[in-house]
This record gives sequence, C-alpha cells and structure tokens, in this order.
Amino acid sequence: MNFENSLAFAQSLDQVDPLRELRNDFLFPQQNGKPFIYLCGNSLGLQPKAAREVLDQQLTNWQNLAVEGWFEGDTPWMFYHKELKKQMSQLVGASALEVCPMNTLTVNLHLLMVSFYKPNAGRFKIIMEAGAFPSDQYAIESQVRFHGYDPATAIIEVAPQPGEYTLKTTEIIAQIKEHGDEIALVLFGGVNYFTGQWFDMPAITKAGHEVGAVVGFDLAHAAGNVPVKLHDWDIDFACWCSYKYQNSGPGGISGIFVHEKHFKDTTLNRFAGWWGYQEQQRFKMEKGFVPEAGADGWQVSCTQVMPMALYYASLQSFEKAGFINPLRVKSETLTAYLFYIIDEVNKSLGIEQYKIITPRTTNDRGAQVSIIAAKQGKHIFEKLVENNVLGDWREPNVIRLSPVPLYNSYEDVFKTGELLLSISKEIL
Ligand SMILES: *Cc1c(COP(=O)(O)O)cnc(C)c1O
Repeated sequence: MNFENSLAFAQSLDQVDPLRELRNDFLFPQQNGKPFIYLCGNSLGLQPKAAREVLDQQLTNWQNLAVEGWFEGDTPWMFYHKELKKQMSQLVGASALEVCPMNTLTVNLHLLMVSFYKPNAGRFKIIMEAGAFPSDQYAIESQVRFHGYDPATAIIEVAPQPGEYTLKTTEIIAQIKEHGDEIALVLFGGVNYFTGQWFDMPAITKAGHEVGAVVGFDLAHAAGNVPVKLHDWDIDFACWCSYKYQNSGPGGISGIFVHEKHFKDTTLNRFAGWWGYQEQQRFKMEKGFVPEAGADGWQVSCTQVMPMALYYASLQSFEKAGFINPLRVKSETLTAYLFYIIDEVNKSLGIEQYKIITPRTTNDRGAQVSIIAAKQGKHIFEKLVENNVLGDWREPNVIRLSPVPLYNSYEDVFKTGELLLSISKEIL
C-alpha cells in the first residue's frame, strides 16, 4: 500500500478498518483530561470494559455462594478454566486439551523446564537467544544450576553479528547444528521483547528436533500479537503471560501449552500439586499423584478465579475480533504505517535521528516497533509521555511503540509521528 503522511489519509484507513469499533470496548488512561495515545500494549494491555463486570460477577458468586461456588452457580470455579481453554487454544493454534491457564509466566517456565529440561552428562545444553528477557535468563540459569551444571558451559546464547540487532534464522540453525547432540533444550522467545523480532518458530523447532532436542517457546510477546500454530508446528511446550497483548490486567494469569504427543509420557518429571490431580478423583484426597489428562495435569495450586475472570473478559474481545487472523491483517498494515511515519520524521529532520531496529519484513515482526534515537532518546521519550503518547523506554536506549490492532488506530500512529517531529525539532 502507498501510505501518505496526512491526518486525512490516516482517518481514511480507519474508516475502512473492519475492527475500528473494538477500541470502544477498552478504557484509555487519561492525563490532563485527555486520553493517552496508548502504544504500550506490549507491556500492559488496556482494561477491557467487560473486566469490571466479570470480576463483579465473581465477587457476587463468592458473596452468595462462598465455598459452594466451587461447584455451584453460573460458572462453578472448579470448571471455570474450561471456558478459557477453548478460546486460549484458538489464539495459539492448539487443542483445548493442550492449554491451561495457571500461575504466572516465570513460574510456568520453571514448571515446564522441570518436565522438559532433562539433562544428562552428554546432553545438557540449553540454546537460547542472547538478550532474552531477564526473567527467562534467570530462570534458565537457575534450572541449569539446580541440575548441577555450570551456566557458563551449559547455556548457549545466539547473539546477533557485531553491529546488528536481530538474529538471522540461518545463524540460529547453524548454532543448533554445531552443538547438536549436546543440546537438551532449545528455549526461545517467540517475539523478542527488546527488538520486536519474531523468530522463525517452525524452522527453529525443526532444527531442534533434528538434533534430538526438546523445543519450547516463551510467547510473552507473541501470544495475542502474531499468529502461532503451536500444535501444527510440533512445538513441545510453551507458556505466555496474558497481561501484555491479551489485556488480562497486571500480574494476570499465565497460559501453558504442552503438545499432546507428551500426554502419555510417564517419564516426565513434574512438580505436582493437588490441582493437577485427576479432576474426577481430586477430592478423594488419596495418596499417590495421578495427573489429569492434558495440560491441566501441570496445575499445582487451586485455580486463581479472579485473574481467570479477567482473562475471560479479555478473551471475549479476541472472540469478537474473530481471533488472531483478522487482528493480524490489521496489525501488519498498522505497524507498517508506523515504520513509514518514522521514516517520514527522519526525512523531515534530514538525518536518521530514529533508527528502527525491528525487522521490517512482515514475517519477522509483530506489532512492536523499537527505535533508537541518535540524540536525547530519554528526553524525547519523556516529552512524548508529557504530550499524551505512552510507549515505553527500555534501557539502555530503546523506545518501544506498539500499535495494537484491538484498540489503536491509524490516526494514533499519524499523531504520534506529528508529535515526534515537533518534539525533535524543538530539542535538536
Ligand atoms: C513480560 C515477560 C516476562 C514476565 O514474566 P512474569 O513472570 O509474568 O513476571 C517473562 N518473560 C518474557 C519473555 C517477558 O516478555
């Protein structure tokens, strides 16, 4: 599409956007009596208006039913996760049996590594992207130590070439091949939090399997952002948080995926708890852990009803949108428009003040655009916020802007560019 740098053009795209009404289902933060242009859904998604209602409904159930709420009422808590599983599975390309809402993300990363990182003397290495989100680095490092290995030799980080920010799939695959039968686990992010690069998940999975490794993904920045097909891509396991692109609220419940091919494997270790026990027998309170079939068998503690209610509310907006594919269609163009607008700002300034480090190729990125300002990055970021454009700042020097197809418009993107240009002209 040939873009134009004008408000009228941006508005004309909004007019023909079939998803444009969805933004009315969300609440925008305000400053000085005006709503923010919110470009921070990569960090914390906006509150769906339905959130308060579903939470209130569960508070009422708790009030009226108390302990009986587990088995009585409109949504017995004991089975409430089943409602979510149907919609979660559609978002990540899995069967309902393969997914489950539980805990929070890093906790799930640990629990899944307990099952899927099974090092031995010959095969003990984990291969991951350099510059992964710190929580993943700490989790992986501590798992390696827990098994008695040294992170310095056991963790292989694939880093970009000098002077580059993103990884080439060929480099990732070359490293997987190089360490070959020493690799126990390939554990990558789906979309990198810093650069916004969407890795070639099927290619990485295939390469990992070819050397006999298990392959898992952290989908914190991918789930609800890009279309993934966890089952068809033959990924062994995955987990994600639901508070970024999925709008389930701060600290929202996480989701896990375990490929059905692992369901019958009784050799997998688990850190078990009563909620992972066979559902029909759970309340017999018997000795000896027998897992529930599917991903549900990885549950540990009794389920978190309030966070699930919030996730339920947020999943309704995805259902309304027709799940990920229609959103992705919009997202591809919306983010391409942001690339264009930033290029326009640079053109007007006559220098490359804003370097885009996110890959421009559609298949290599999601909604997020990461930019590095040549001069005064932090100051410019603060000015954006002061003027009601909320992205985020990531040390040491990156501004992340993520137009989210559920609630952002082309007009948002245009206005962000306009503001960026006027701030830059003032400061530089
Ligand atoms: C956001 C994010 C996390 C956060 O983990 P929590 O356990 O939810 O605090 C972890 N890993 C990645 C890759 C993330 O993007």
